[in-house]
Amino acid sequence: MSDDAQQQIETKLAGLRETFLPRFASAENEIVLREENAKLLGKKGELTAILRDMGKVPGPARKAIGERVNNLKVEAEAAFELRLKTIQKEARDADLNGVPFDLTLPGRMPFGKGHKHPINQIREEVVAIFRSLGFGVHEGREIELEENNFARLGFPPDHPATDMQDSFWTTSGHLLRTHTSNIQVRAMMSQKPPMAFIAPGAVYRRDDDATHSPMFHQLEAFLVDENVSMAHLRGILSEFAGRLFGAGTPVRLRPSYFPFVEPGAEVDIGCTFCKKSDGTRAGCSLCKHTGWIEVLGCGMIHPVVFEQCGIDPEQWTGFALGMGLERLAMLRYGVPHMRLFFENDPRFLAQF
Ligand SMILES: [Zn+2]
Repeated sequence: MSDDAQQQIETKLAGLRETFLPRFASAENEIVLREENAKLLGKKGELTAILRDMGKVPGPARKAIGERVNNLKVEAEAAFELRLKTIQKEARDADLNGVPFDLTLPGRMPFGKGHKHPINQIREEVVAIFRSLGFGVHEGREIELEENNFARLGFPPDHPATDMQDSFWTTSGHLLRTHTSNIQVRAMMSQKPPMAFIAPGAVYRRDDDATHSPMFHQLEAFLVDENVSMAHLRGILSEFAGRLFGAGTPVRLRPSYFPFVEPGAEVDIGCTFCKKSDGTRAGCSLCKHTGWIEVLGCGMIHPVVFEQCGIDPEQWTGFALGMGLERLAMLRYGVPHMRLFFENDPRFLAQF
């Protein structure tokens, strides 16, 4: 009986030896190859079954047969690895040489297309208006030297805005700019007049409540030339208001104080919410029933600012105006709270 077992095993081994190479070779892909491998070397594989039957082989012959079984196992494993590598290389080559993946095909996910954030939309609109009026665009740094943010703009050292509590300071004594006016300082120090540009950008203050955000966006317009007067400023403001809020939008200037201009003014436009078809305003809660809404600050550039930046105030005059882009967007789209712009709620953003 044990001789029979030995005979059977030897027959099976010879049979397997004949067949495993062609079986591996004919496997066309990795899945088929792994199946064939499992049939041979897996838990219920043919060679595994033979190994299990080794106990039936008589002692003296066991060692010799065992060696042959093991050799076959090693051979089969090597053949499997070799064939696997070949199949993987073939698949990779076919991939590389095949028709390239078409990146322009539309996606299958049910997401709508995104669009620009309302603050970006209003910024691009305002930039386009000033560009068409002949202004260039400057962008400056957000981390600034104290003197470019305050002193050169005529802020006295004890001005509340320079207080540590109101601005974000770095450990090295720089600060996050509190307005985009640092851009005009750098422009005046590096260029000769005449110049006309706008400076849009993010600014930072230690404010966080319903109507303030620690980060918001400003846009300043800045013009220096000979014989610039308040009338030029007024003309630019009327043109700007008409283009952004509709032709004929009335503009008024109220005297006000900013350290870097003289005279300075706050600018109101006719309320966009209670405007009647005949062009008059009925008054509403948003304009506190006055028919006017404040939109920006402006003024003639203070001679001290010119001097601080190396420009002769006897020869050159100019104006500056600055606005908050969030405020413009709130007026334009009727948004009640500034923080809605920064919460990134898709239900809000999808409305623009
Ligand atoms: Zn109103």
